[in-house]
Amino acid sequence: MIYFRFFGETPAEQAKNLAKNFLEKLKDFEFVYFGLGFSGKDKQTAKKEFLSLIVSEFEKAGKNFSNQEHEVFLLCDLDRKKVEVEVKPVFIFGHYNKYSREIAQTIHYCIECKGRKCSACNFTGKQVQESVQEIIGKKALEAFSARKHFFHGAGREDVDVLMLGKGRPFVLELAQPKKRKISLKEFEENVNKEKRVRFHSLAFCGPEKVAQVKTTEHDKAYEAVVECEKEADKEKIGALAGQRLGIEQFTPTRVEKRRAKATRKKWAEITRVKALERKKFSLQLKTQAGLYIKEFVSGDSGRTKPSLSSLLGQPCRCVQLDVLEIIEK
Ligand SMILES: [Zn+2]
Repeated sequence: MIYFRFFGETPAEQAKNLAKNFLEKLKDFEFVYFGLGFSGKDKQTAKKEFLSLIVSEFEKAGKNFSNQEHEVFLLCDLDRKKVEVEVKPVFIFGHYNKYSREIAQTIHYCIECKGRKCSACNFTGKQVQESVQEIIGKKALEAFSARKHFFHGAGREDVDVLMLGKGRPFVLELAQPKKRKISLKEFEENVNKEKRVRFHSLAFCGPEKVAQVKTTEHDKAYEAVVECEKEADKEKIGALAGQRLGIEQFTPTRVEKRRAKATRKKWAEITRVKALERKKFSLQLKTQAGLYIKEFVSGDSGRTKPSLSSLLGQPCRCVQLDVLEIIEK
């Protein structure tokens, strides 16, 4: 939090001093519009005389008052002669592809030490060493001279799952940026030097995009490699292609801690099946938003019905998974 004090005998002197201190404190920050609010015992009367004085002081420095379009907001505490400054975050919307099975979507802190670094995590503080968030976030902090990054994805894939096709939508939020007007085209080229993750169609957006990205549900297309316990029955496997299944999935054991326990009805359409080795085959499928694929393959000890295990009459597991496409309506 940025804050400063202001002094002066008369409101005019105070306004002058406030503007001077403010411009000094925020000299490295890019902004055109500022917003203004007041707190204190007689804020109504003070506001009347003070507001126009401050606005005219700021206008001399080429800064305009707007409580709608502001990039920085000043909250003046008239009793304590103190100002708190809030710098609005920058939001960037885009899509990402992930071509590695060793990169997480967001930072996974060590369960033992919660990021403080311990022997369990080899003193890294993290469970997974790399993430899509850090790859773009680190470069974004430099480019925008920002303090912190937050990553809001439209759902997530597991660390060992590739994200292919047109990519997954996300919003990157940058807290307290000094710069706001950088070329996103150049930035995109710069982050894409990292070949295992690619970012595209980056564009500035408003904060409302975060909720939109997080709440919109997308159907998906996957490719899964399935391994059966015994040699797979070719006829049974072949018969899977073209099937559209109604599935009842009880919250998987794997995500029990994060999600409410309930049975969810979902559909899946198996579009293609291909035999690989003796016990292995691959399948492509389209699924309704929210279906857990690894559990649809294994059956999750009967929690997902039907499953590939139940359809083939033997235990199966998903040994490799890729998101082929996130189907955006
Ligand atoms: Zn640790």
